[in-house]
Amino acid sequence: MDILLLGPPGAGKGTQGALLSQALGSPKFSTGDLLRDAVKQGTPLGVEARAVMEAGHLVSDEIILGVIRDELAKPVSAHGVIFDGVVRTIPQAEGVAEVLQAMGRQIDTVLFFDVSDEHLLRRLAARRDVESRADDDPAAVVTRLKAYREQTAPVIAWYAAHGGLTRIDAVGTVAEVSDRAMRALARA
Ligand code: ADP
Repeated sequence: MDILLLGPPGAGKGTQGALLSQALGSPKFSTGDLLRDAVKQGTPLGVEARAVMEAGHLVSDEIILGVIRDELAKPVSAHGVIFDGVVRTIPQAEGVAEVLQAMGRQIDTVLFFDVSDEHLLRRLAARRDVESRADDDPAAVVTRLKAYREQTAPVIAWYAAHGGLTRIDAVGTVAEVSDRAMRALARA
């Protein structure tokens, strides 16, 4: 099963994705984690993406689609993947659909983790204190939320129109949200 997690920065996709991955035994694929590793290791991809990420902007569709193709070609991804924050623009949604279709697959379920702006700003400020991510500084957070509203929010409507999107209330404890996500999957 291919499951896509959508939601604003700070919605808890990474945390919930890891729990889903454990529960379902499917690998989790996060472009954010993959890009951060590339930056740390100083690979050509990391060198190219670093400044864009640190400013809070989206990395280009071309780069992301290349990363997605590479990931889906791996044997570990052959039986379905949990896509965590992987699709952030309409061209990316179209690109993923195309790559999966060529493999006889499709996104089976989309879980949209919904959180109010007020909660997001609080969570991202708290994470800055713990993880010291460059893109959690206040200016980059504003840019990330703007990128989300302008480029990623339309993706929610795109998937709603293509079927299979479930909204999850992502305010609550990790266990509560995880429970909602598992129930949504059981219904899907
Ligand atoms: P968040 O969703 O909290 O902003 P992530 O760790 O998922 O954090 O992503 C960090 C950064 O990586 C993004 O701000 C963006 O620069 C880049 N990125 C990750 N995935 C994508 C994507 N699908 N398209 C464009 N940029 C991406």
